[in-house]
Amino acid sequence: MRRSKKVLGFLSFVWHNKRAIVMQLFLIICFCVASAFYISKNNMDKKNYKLSLGDNELLEVNIEGRIFKSIIDQETGLLKVLKEPEDDRILRFKSVKINEDDLSLVVKFMTNKLLPTMYNQGGIGIAAIQVGVPIKAFIVDIPISKILIDDEYKNLEDPRYLRKKLEAGESIVIKEIVPTFVDVKMVYESKFMKKTPKIIEENGQKKLVGIMDEKLINSNSLPEMIIEHRPYFFLNPNINYNSDEQTILPEGCLSVPMEHVIKKYNGIVDVKRPIDIQLNYIDENLKKKELNIKGSSSEYWKWFSRCAQHEYDHTEGILFIDALELSNSLN
Ligand SMILES: [Zn+2]
Repeated sequence: MRRSKKVLGFLSFVWHNKRAIVMQLFLIICFCVASAFYISKNNMDKKNYKLSLGDNELLEVNIEGRIFKSIIDQETGLLKVLKEPEDDRILRFKSVKINEDDLSLVVKFMTNKLLPTMYNQGGIGIAAIQVGVPIKAFIVDIPISKILIDDEYKNLEDPRYLRKKLEAGESIVIKEIVPTFVDVKMVYESKFMKKTPKIIEENGQKKLVGIMDEKLINSNSLPEMIIEHRPYFFLNPNINYNSDEQTILPEGCLSVPMEHVIKKYNGIVDVKRPIDIQLNYIDENLKKKELNIKGSSSEYWKWFSRCAQHEYDHTEGILFIDALELSNSLN
């Protein structure tokens, strides 16, 4: 009898407060839905992928059941670089953030596979997605060059200097390399990065080993020369500052064949970008770093800033031709 009284009392309470109760239930459901959405979104950004190392030390990444992997280019024995337009669907994929546990695996892959592939293709930057694995990782290496030829220092800004000499039948002895900066056009025009002799330091002087005293007499090709390398590895990069000041410079991309640019965009390769940027990232020693890139400070950093922005865009699924498309449509 007492119990039935309590039940009746409860039901009468519910009936009199039904509006407030419905409203509270509604709020609770809203909160649960929002929490579930937030948690799943965070998981997508951070963990919803699986990385593994397959045959030949090739990376394989499973993102929500979709498998991405790099493949060996039979011609070079290195990695196949994806190209526009046929590989567009992968190149447009937004790269996933790398979990802490996977970082050293990625560094190993970048050192052993990605970097040699970039050098082989004559690139000054490459993103992991360009070899088929959409993970937030890229490399920038702006070569630095100056050579001592015939007892005279020459910057390698102007490849015609050497070409003229070679065409006139003169031989050139490269004795020493001193770093200064690079002309990016020359990087694209020549194949000189294919063979990279070592630079050693002797009595405080930098010297080139592997090509020293070698006479370069083949007038049909530029000498396979120089270059000091310092590759920068960027893992989980984030650009957290862009200067208002911008500059227009020509760009190229290992994934966008020049024929494609000429055919589709009349060969216009000028892209407008901020001059200075600040990047947060993890380096090859798994250390958190912050890099202020002052593009206005020197030729080296001008191209570094440009290249880092270009590679960062790759991790977002953006290609430099998108900027061309935009500027063309504005004209
Ligand atoms: Zn590119």
